[in-house]
Amino acid sequence: MHSYSTYSDLLNHLDQLQVEYQDLGIAPNGDPIVAARTGGDETPTIVITAGSHATEHAGVRAAVECVDRLETDHAVYVVPSRDPIGLNGYASALETALDASVSIESFAAVDEILEDRGEIVYDDDELILALIGDTGFATTRPTEELPSCLRLLTRLKEFQHERPSVLELFRGRRIITPAGHAAVEETGEFGRAYTLVVSPDGELLHLNRFFDRDWAPVETRSVRSLLERVEPGLVIDLHENSEQGKRYHVSLRPTRSGVDFDEEERIGARIVDAVRDIGVPLTTDEDIFGDKLDVVGRTADEDRSRDSSDRFYSRSGTGAYCVDPNVTSPPRSGEGLNAVDLAAEKYGFAFTTETGMHGPFEQRVEAAVVSVKAAIDAFEEPH
Ligand SMILES: [Zn+2]
Repeated sequence: MHSYSTYSDLLNHLDQLQVEYQDLGIAPNGDPIVAARTGGDETPTIVITAGSHATEHAGVRAAVECVDRLETDHAVYVVPSRDPIGLNGYASALETALDASVSIESFAAVDEILEDRGEIVYDDDELILALIGDTGFATTRPTEELPSCLRLLTRLKEFQHERPSVLELFRGRRIITPAGHAAVEETGEFGRAYTLVVSPDGELLHLNRFFDRDWAPVETRSVRSLLERVEPGLVIDLHENSEQGKRYHVSLRPTRSGVDFDEEERIGARIVDAVRDIGVPLTTDEDIFGDKLDVVGRTADEDRSRDSSDRFYSRSGTGAYCVDPNVTSPPRSGEGLNAVDLAAEKYGFAFTTETGMHGPFEQRVEAAVVSVKAAIDAFEEPH
């Protein structure tokens, strides 16, 4: 199965599939952020999105596969890439900023480009932070534990709290980081970039945030306006995770008042069953409750000791976990809502799938596609 080396490859594939797609907005490099239309005309509509973290490429590939393979009478909108700049990779982002071609074969080459052509804002033994035009670029070597993008996310988060002056120059701007995922198929060290955004208030977030903020980057505004317009009854956002080996999990959100949480659980369970049925291993509780993941919650023991009517809990050992953005421990404070948080709060059922990035690319894609198909089947079923 081919991946997309460039965002144009993805758009060409949509053209080959002869699907209709509409522009939701224009990314800062000029690429349109698109929603492909598939399925029938029935409502409530279904929205599938992917690629807000462009390093997680299997979700992007799976989203286009969904355009081709879904069979449903419900109207479906698919936003396959929520970060075209990140999909095109780190070199491409540098080329746009410099208006010149660059070739990067090593981290040393990146250092050299930033030092020669950028305004260096911060430089220590580990990381370089530079501004080229109005775009920030950061780089650091990956370690055995963490890829470059997650190391930079962690370090820059520390800066936000401990040395905010470093981020001062980046307010209202973005900071592009290399993936630095050498062992991950179809992502690699520089093949994709990860986009961080510093808000005018100085908070450092990524492209799956800002859904509850008036000030939001265009990539977020595009998806938010689609959700507003089509009011989906089901939203699935496809992600990947490098902290859980080849294993898979899906997360649920608390439903709005008056909406049956049991129904969301039923759909979640069907997603997990379908993924398990194709032979993909599920996450362990250790994967989920480790401190590096965005999915935060109680330990399985704490969970067992609580009243089952409490809606923030894990479904330990099942591969499906409930995440409440407002009642997390530690809190996701100051982070704002992501796409599915907003969808669950305002529109309908919402799920985030996370495939393990260390699995084979094709299996990661298939797990994501199977998740979407199972969710739609369960959503449509009379019960
Ligand atoms: Zn992600």
